[in-house]
Amino acid sequence: MPKQKTYAIGIDLGGTKILAAVVDITTGEIIASARKRTRAEKGQDFVAKRTIELTQAALSAANLPQDASIITVGVGAAGQIDRKAGVVVDAPNLGVKNMQLADILGRQFGKPVRVGNDVEVAALGEHIYGSGQGFNNFVCLFVGTGIGSGIVQNGRLYPGLTGTAGEVGHIVIQAGGRICGCGARGCLEAYASRTAITISLKAIALS
Ligand SMILES: [Zn+2]
Repeated sequence: MPKQKTYAIGIDLGGTKILAAVVDITTGEIIASARKRTRAEKGQDFVAKRTIELTQAALSAANLPQDASIITVGVGAAGQIDRKAGVVVDAPNLGVKNMQLADILGRQFGKPVRVGNDVEVAALGEHIYGSGQGFNNFVCLFVGTGIGSGIVQNGRLYPGLTGTAGEVGHIVIQAGGRICGCGARGCLEAYASRTAITISLKAIALS
């Protein structure tokens, strides 16, 4: 008899979109997924409800066999996370503060829920299933609206003392340089993020 397959639910909770997926734990293969815009402006309850709906949509699209077992739910959220409590402490892009996400999803789906910072869990994903396989020390750099990174050290996520070790976007690369979204000047993010590159290209096109 073939071994029963095990699955997990993965949720990407971002400022632009929420993406829920059913994943085969052995291979990392995404069986099915569902996504919608976050609509953070509609508030915390809306974001929670939409996350649940998308998870249900991904589950029904996956159409798993009766005996398939889903062992856990993992969330990567774009914000500051209390990993132990499973709480999104502060996420300005999500319009969310002190959101008890592990509780909310645990009650809904009856599975253990782990919540982490989106960039960190993405680095962990690369370590287990992607480009980081076989490497115990690496930095996973993400360039988007801003710039973030996840650090894997000795095979484990390295959050740093305050959980912000991967916040490389605000390293100053140009003293007294461009103003950054954080209020400081000369941050890496003010030059090399998608947002900054778009601004530079527009300036070149207009000159
Ligand atoms: Zn900055």
